Amino acid sequence: MRLLLATLSHETNTFSPVPTKIERFCRDATTLLSGRVAVDFYRGTGTCMGGFLAVADEIGADIVVPVCASAPPSGPVDSEAYETFCRMITDAVAVGGFDALWLELHGAMVTEHFDDGEGELLRRIRAIDPDTPLCVAYDMHANVFDAMVGNAQIVAGYHTYPHVDQRQTAERAARALLRVMQREVKPTSAWGAAPMLPHVMAQGTHQAPNKDLQAMCAAWEASGRALAASLFVGFPHADVEMAGLSAVVVTDNDPADAQAKVDELLGFAWKARREFMFDIEPLETSVRRAKQLGAPGRLPVVLLDHYDNCASGGTMDTTDTLREIIRQDLDDVVFFGIYDPDAVQRAIQAGVGATVTLSIGAKLPMPLLPVASTPLTVTGTMQTISAGSFRLKGGLTPGLQLFMGPTVVLDTGKVQIVLLSRHIEPTAQEMLQILGIDPSRKKYVAIKSRVHWRADLGKIAREIVECAGVGVCTSDYAQLTFRKLRRPLFPLDPCLQWNQPA
Ligand SMILES: [Zn+2]
Repeated sequence: MRLLLATLSHETNTFSPVPTKIERFCRDATTLLSGRVAVDFYRGTGTCMGGFLAVADEIGADIVVPVCASAPPSGPVDSEAYETFCRMITDAVAVGGFDALWLELHGAMVTEHFDDGEGELLRRIRAIDPDTPLCVAYDMHANVFDAMVGNAQIVAGYHTYPHVDQRQTAERAARALLRVMQREVKPTSAWGAAPMLPHVMAQGTHQAPNKDLQAMCAAWEASGRALAASLFVGFPHADVEMAGLSAVVVTDNDPADAQAKVDELLGFAWKARREFMFDIEPLETSVRRAKQLGAPGRLPVVLLDHYDNCASGGTMDTTDTLREIIRQDLDDVVFFGIYDPDAVQRAIQAGVGATVTLSIGAKLPMPLLPVASTPLTVTGTMQTISAGSFRLKGGLTPGLQLFMGPTVVLDTGKVQIVLLSRHIEPTAQEMLQILGIDPSRKKYVAIKSRVHWRADLGKIAREIVECAGVGVCTSDYAQLTFRKLRRPLFPLDPCLQWNQPA
């Protein structure tokens, strides 16, 4: 059996000023992964590609990997980058000779010219090769358009957020497609969207209602009542028509049942729509509350600077939450982190042990946001310099090599500030441990994260305090101007009544 495996993954925050050019899709400063290098990089890891490779190895398939391109979330994908990656995939498809195409796509990629980056890629593939069986593993944050479903036999989305089942999702998609290829099953799919935009802070599968929705999907799959069932919570920081919640169900030769299951998921989500909302507390109140909760010798209070999560397109350089932590004089804090490659270089030049004063953050203007952050001047001792490269043992993607880029820790005496050269969401204790910091022994762990931190840092959180700082992942939708998003939509239109199609 001969298989084409490829990854093209980007979650696009259309409000983000962070550019998305080819270099951002490279695994380190220069390496765009394809062929044998990609296989070696991903084999054995807890990623979608790791899952595809595991199944391919199991059946002894010959594999061709034209590209594995994935980048941290940021602004719309540059046309040159998008066309380059699409061509790498479609050129391979055009050569032909494949028994199946297994794709890892995010599902919320917006490019300079296409609001539905994944659908456009699939349309191009199908224009060249309308018949070869094709499966897609999507992120749970996919904003689903018709072409993303109609051009694949099997569509499978993650069932967890934090996304700890990436590998399993790809395995489920691949195994279901193998059954299709063996003519054991005949896939029939349905999909639909509910007019709602679930809040990211309320999307975690550690809590209702998404926990229950994903359990419904998993139960149908486990009992064989669906070949694949996926509830996509959607990615709200994208001004595209179909941002929001949707469901895709693939059954064995029963389109009516696929539609019934989609309707059941959408109906359940709509009834629970208020549980998908999130209440905002003023920053000053949150930090004061965190200060009162802190206790030496006990596990830390975790402060979430969630408006500026780089894994949702944030610049990771807004300073407002850090500034408030310093202003209210919290002590024994680690703050991960501020993205500021220039400050990192200046700190490295000063060297470990030096006392330095740096102006950090707020280097990336956010023109689509009505509020701005400002640089923060801090003085401290240079504590650590790290290359920032290591292999993750646990957390979101066990076994994956991470590249944080040159990273330093500046200790103000009360706050250890991590300064970074690449956008990376703090999710694992290891990310701090390699910098010489044991987060479990800190009084406060302040991180630019929303939900993924729960994958590993969640194990040590005694209390959680959400901090409404500044950033393009704002929880205050009033700060965002939507032009293309379909309306009416809950909660932007809070009184919306939806008569779900019968
Ligand atoms: Zn996601």
